[in-house]
Amino acid sequence: MGKNVVIVGGGLAGLAASIYLARGGRNVTLFEKRTYLGGRAITTHRHGYRFNLGAHALYRQGHAASVYRELGIPVRGKSPATSGAALFRGDAYRLPSGIFSLLTTSLLSFRGKRELVAAFVRVRRNEAARVADQTLGAWLDARFTDARARQVMEAFFRLFTYANDAREQRASLALAQARLGLRGVLYLDEGWQKLVDSMHSAAISSGVHFVSSARIVGIVHDDRVRAVELGGLDLDADRMDTQAIAFPADDPEMVEGALIPADTVLLAVDPTTAASLAGNTGETWTRAQRVNAACLDVGLRALPRPRATFALGIDEPTYLSVHSAAAHLTPKGGALIQLVRYGGSDAAADERALEAMLDRFQPGWRELVVHRRFLPSMTVSNALVTPANPRPSVNTSVRGLYLAGDWVGDEGLLSDAALASARAAARAILAET
Ligand SMILES: Cc1cc2nc3c(=O)[nH]c(=O)nc-3n(C[C@H](O)[C@H](O)[C@H](O)COP(=O)(O)OP(=O)(O)OC[C@H]3O[C@@H](n4cnc5c(N)ncnc54)[C@H](O)[C@@H]3O)c2cc1C
Repeated sequence: MGKNVVIVGGGLAGLAASIYLARGGRNVTLFEKRTYLGGRAITTHRHGYRFNLGAHALYRQGHAASVYRELGIPVRGKSPATSGAALFRGDAYRLPSGIFSLLTTSLLSFRGKRELVAAFVRVRRNEAARVADQTLGAWLDARFTDARARQVMEAFFRLFTYANDAREQRASLALAQARLGLRGVLYLDEGWQKLVDSMHSAAISSGVHFVSSARIVGIVHDDRVRAVELGGLDLDADRMDTQAIAFPADDPEMVEGALIPADTVLLAVDPTTAASLAGNTGETWTRAQRVNAACLDVGLRALPRPRATFALGIDEPTYLSVHSAAAHLTPKGGALIQLVRYGGSDAAADERALEAMLDRFQPGWRELVVHRRFLPSMTVSNALVTPANPRPSVNTSVRGLYLAGDWVGDEGLLSDAALASARAAARAILAET
C-alpha cells in the first residue's frame, strides 16, 4: 500500500512531484491528457522563434527556483534590464524602478516619490511577515495619500502577481511576491520548454512511467482512494508537430473506461477538473476567482527601437517586454516581444490596446512580423488568493488523495505556488505509512 502513485496532469507541478516521488522510492505513473507535457509552461517553435505561452519570468529566489535546484534541473537565462517606460494617459515617462529613475522621473510629485520609496522599503524589509490577514487594498490605503504614486505601486503589484485588480488579494502573498520580484527575475534561454524537457528527462531516468493522450475521468474512492478511471484519447492537432511524447504505454489495460487500481493519487490539474474527479470532496476548490490575461506575442525580423525594451501601463493594465533582449529566443538579429493586458475580458479591445502599445514603443513593427499570436483569455493562475478564499491544502479529506498546483497550499504565487505545492504533496505522500 502507498508504493504505487498515480499523478494526474503533466504540467510543472505533476512533473516535479513525479521526480520527488520516484526518487523517494515510489512506483510513479503520470497521466497527461494531451500528447505533450508541460501544461501552461510549454514553448512553441515558429520559424526559429520560441514562444512561451505569454510572458513568463522565473523569480530567482522563489520556491520554483529552489525546487529546480533540489531536483538538479538546470535554469539558464538572464535578468532583464530594470529600466523602462511608464505609460500614463498616453504619454511615456521614465519608469520609477530604481533610485536614479525615481529621482528623475517627471511622472510623480515629490510627495508621491517619498511615498513610493517608503512603500518599496517596506516591501524589501519583508513587510509580508508583518501584515495580518488583510487585503492589499487595505495595505495600500494605509501607505498612500498620493493617488498617482498609488497607481504606480498598483502597476508594480500587477507586474509581480499578474492580478489585474490586486486590491482584493491577500496582502501577505502579494507583498512576498513583490519582494521576490525586486530581487530579480530570469527570462529563460530557449523558453520554459527547457524546464519541461529537463524535468521530463529527470523523471524518466528516475523511473517515472508516462502515459500521454490519456485523460483521467474519475477517481474511485470511499474513505480512501481505490482507482482512477481512464477516458478517451485527446489528440491536439495544434501540437502534433513538436514535443509529442510516447502514446499510451504498450499496455493492453490502458483502454478507455479502464479502472487502474491506485491507493495514492496526486491531482496536479486545475480546480474544476480536480473537483469533478474527486466528487463531493472537492466542492470548495472551485470558489476562487481565476487570474486571467490577454497576451500578444510577436516575433520580428529586427527591433525598430532596440532601446525600448520594457514598458508598463500605469493607468492601463498593460505590459510590454522584449524577452529576446535578455534570453536566447530568436535567430540572430530577431526580436521576440511579449505584451500582456492584465484581466483581459474583451478580446477585441484587448488586442487593440496591445497593438496600440506596440505602435507607441516599436513603430514600424507590422512590416517586420515573422510570426504573431494573440491569446485572448489565458488562465495565468487558477486562484486569486483573498482573505476570504484561502487555498486548499495538499491533503484532502480522502485518504491517499492529494492536490498540487498554483491554487493549492499557502506558499508563493504562479509557478512558485505550483512547485511549492508539488514538493509539499510529494513530502506528504512519502511520509505516508
Ligand atoms: C500567460 C501566462 C503567463 C505566466 N507567467 C508566469 C510568470 O511570469 N511566472 C511564473 O512563475 N508563472 C507564470 N505563469 C504560470 C505558470 O505557467 C503556471 O503556474 C504553471 O505552468 C502551472 O503548472 P501546473 O502544473 O500547476 O498546471 P498546468 O500547467 O495547467 O498543468 C496541468 C496539466 O494537467 C493536464 N490535465 C488536465 N486535466 C487532466 C485530466 N483529466 N487527465 C490528465 N491530464 C489532465 C493538462 O493538460 C495540463 O498539462 C504564467 C501563466 C500564463 C498562462
